[in-house]
Amino acid sequence: MTLDTPVTEFPGVGAARAAKLEKLGIRTAGDLLSAFPRDYEDRRRVWDIQSAPLGEKVCVQAIVAAPPRLSYVRRGMELVKLRAVDGSGAADITFFNQGYMARSLRAGEEYIFYGALEEQGRRRTMTNPIVERAGRQADTGRIMPVYRLTAGISNHLMASLTRRAIEDCAPLVPETLPRAVRLEHGLAQAEFAYRNIHFPEGPEELEQARRRLTFEELFYLAVGLASLKQRRETPGGGFPIQSRELEEFAALLPFALTGAQRRTMGEIAADLCSGRSMNRLVQGDVGSGKTAAAAYAVWLAAGSGCQSALMAPTEVLAQQHYHNLAPLFTKAGVETVLLTGSLSAAARRDARERLALGTAKLAIGTHALLSEGVEFQNLALVVTDEQHRFGVAQRSALAGKSRGGTDRAPHVLVMSATPIPRTLALMIYGDLDVSVIDELPPGRTPVETYVVGEDKRQRMYGFVRRLVGEGRQAYIICPAVEEDGDREPDGGPAMDLKAVKTYARQLKTQVFPDLRVDFLHGKMRPGEKERVMAAFAAGQTDVLVSTTVIEVGVDVPNAALIIVENADRFGLSQLHQLRGRVGRGEHQSYCVLITASRSPVSIQRLKTLAATTDGFKISEEDLKLRGPGDFFGSRQHGLPQLHVADLAGDMRTLAQAQQAAERLLEEDPELALPDNRPVRERVRELFRETPDIFN
Ligand code: ADP
Ligand code: MG
Repeated sequence: MTLDTPVTEFPGVGAARAAKLEKLGIRTAGDLLSAFPRDYEDRRRVWDIQSAPLGEKVCVQAIVAAPPRLSYVRRGMELVKLRAVDGSGAADITFFNQGYMARSLRAGEEYIFYGALEEQGRRRTMTNPIVERAGRQADTGRIMPVYRLTAGISNHLMASLTRRAIEDCAPLVPETLPRAVRLEHGLAQAEFAYRNIHFPEGPEELEQARRRLTFEELFYLAVGLASLKQRRETPGGGFPIQSRELEEFAALLPFALTGAQRRTMGEIAADLCSGRSMNRLVQGDVGSGKTAAAAYAVWLAAGSGCQSALMAPTEVLAQQHYHNLAPLFTKAGVETVLLTGSLSAAARRDARERLALGTAKLAIGTHALLSEGVEFQNLALVVTDEQHRFGVAQRSALAGKSRGGTDRAPHVLVMSATPIPRTLALMIYGDLDVSVIDELPPGRTPVETYVVGEDKRQRMYGFVRRLVGEGRQAYIICPAVEEDGDREPDGGPAMDLKAVKTYARQLKTQVFPDLRVDFLHGKMRPGEKERVMAAFAAGQTDVLVSTTVIEVGVDVPNAALIIVENADRFGLSQLHQLRGRVGRGEHQSYCVLITASRSPVSIQRLKTLAATTDGFKISEEDLKLRGPGDFFGSRQHGLPQLHVADLAGDMRTLAQAQQAAERLLEEDPELALPDNRPVRERVRELFRETPDIFN
C-alpha cells in the first residue's frame, strides 16, 4: 500500500462506502492519514462494575455469566440481553438491533464492555456498549480517536481503516520539515506525529504529535505569506512616485496631524517612493484619522500623474468619503469621481470616461470598482478602507490585475479599523507591512459606556430626549431589517429581535412623536440610503434607527449617543466599532448597551467592553471568547484552512513557526536548497489559489 492507494482497495470498502468516504474528502490512504480526529476518548482505564462512575462512558472487564438471550420486541426489532460479572458485582447488558451479539458472545468468556453504566434500582445496566474480547482489544484499553463522520460511516470503521493505513503508510509519510527546524524547536518526526495523532500511546505522545502538526501547518502558512511579501517587494516592480513635502499636504487639512499620523504617512511615502510596490496595512482604532493617511497617498500619486482607487465596503461609506475628500482634492487640483451603483447611467458613463482618459485621478467607490471592469489610464494605487474582509487571495488577485497597460502592480494600502490581535494580524496580514495609528486626535473625551437591562428602557428613552434637547443626535442600532427573519448581508441575528422598520415606526409614533426619527438598513436602495445618511449628517434627523450598516466609518460629530439593542448578540469588536460612531465631536458621548440576557457570561462580556476603550484589548478578549472565525466570517480572510492549529489557542506555536519561517527565507529566499525543496512544494500546494506565489 502507498499513500495514493484508493480506499476501494481496503477490505470491506465497496463503491457505496467509497462514495460516502468521498463526502468526507477521503479517497486514498493518504487522505485517511490527513483526516485528523476531532476529539479523543480515553478508554484506557478499566473499572470495577461496582465502583465505576454512572452515566459516563467507561470500560469494564467482565465475564458473560450465561448464554445471551435473543428476543424480538416488535417485527424486526432484535433484543439481546446478558448478564456480565466481575469480582465486584454484575451488570445487565442490553443490545438493540445487534442480534449477532447473541451468537458472538459466549458464556464464560471475558470481554471489555465500553459504555455508560446506569442504575435501575439495585441493578447496574449498560445499553449498546462496544464489546471486545479481553486481550484482543482494538478500540478499548487505549485513547481512541473520534473522527468526523457521515451517514453510513461509523467511528469504528474510520478507526479501523485509519489503523490499516497507518500500519502500512506511516513510514511513507515524507518528512518535509527541514531537519534544522525540527531539531531547534524540538518537534517530533512526521511518522511519529501521524501515528500518535490518530492512535496516541498516551497523553504526552498525543501532545507531541499535535505540537508537531500544528507547528507544521502554521509554518507552511507563514512561509507562504512571508514569500508573498518578499515577492511583492521585488525591486523595480512598483509605480515610481515622486516624494513631496508632507507639510505641503498638511496645509490642505483643517487640523494639525497627530504624531502617529505623521509617522504612518512617512512610512507610506517611503514605500511609494522606493521603486518597489507598497503593500501596507494601516491599523488604527476608530476615529484615529486613517483617512488622512490614505488621502496623503492619493495626493502623492496624483502629484506624479498617477491614478488611485479608493474602495469602501458600503455605498454609504463611499459617498461619505467622496463628500469629505472631494473638496480637499479640489483644492489640491486632484479631480475626483464617485462611482457607485446609485449614479445615473449618464453620470456613471461620464465618470468612467474621465478615468479612462486619465483626467480624473481618484475614483471612489465600493469593492465592485475593480471587478466591474472600470478602465483606468494608469492605476498606481489601490486603497481599501475598513476592510478586514479583504483577504490574501483578493490582494493577490489585485496585484495581478488593473495594471493600466504596464507590467507594474499597483501599490496597495489597506486600512483596518478592526484592531486585530497581533498574532492574528500576522497571519491575516502576514504579507503586508503594518503601520499603527495608536493615538487619537486631541480633544476627544472617551465615550461613556453603560450596560443596562430592559427595566431601564424608559429611563433610556428619557436620556435620548434630554440629549436631543441639548441639540445632539442619537443612533439606535438593532440587528435585523424585518421581523420575518430577514438577515443582514453580514449574517447577523434575526427573528424576535428589534427590527428596524417596525421599531422605527413604533419609536416615531409612540415614544418620540415630537422628534425627527428616521431609519436606515442594508436592503434599502442606494439612493435612499444616501438621502437618509445625508439628512442625518446635516442634522435634519434627531434619532437614526439603523442596522449595522453604519458600523464602519460613518462620521457625524454631532451624534453623541449610540444605543445598541440586543447587545449580547454582537461580538465585542463589532460593538467597539459601533461605539466608535460617537465621540467624534467635542461633546461628551455615550454608548448604551441594552440586553435582556441574564447569562452572567454575556453580561460580563459587555461589562468588559464598558470598562475599556482599548480596541486591541477588546479584540484579544473577543478572540479568547469566540475564536478567530468571528472576526472574519468563514474563510473570508482567504487563508488556507487550518486543520489542527487553533489560532486562539496556539499563539506560542504560531510565534515560533513565524520566526522559523522568516529565518528559513532569509537563508534561502527561493527555497532552492535540497533540504528546503519539500517546503517549497508544500507551500505551493497550500497556496494553490493564490496566483503569484513561486511562479
Ligand atoms: P478613521 O480612522 O476611523 O477612519 P477618520 O479618518 O474618519 O477616522 O477621522 C475621524 C475624524 O477625525 C474625522 O472627522 C477627521 O476629520 C478627524 N481627524 C482626523 N485626524 C485629525 C487630527 N489630527 N486632528 C483633529 N481631527 C482629526
Ligand atoms: Mg475611516
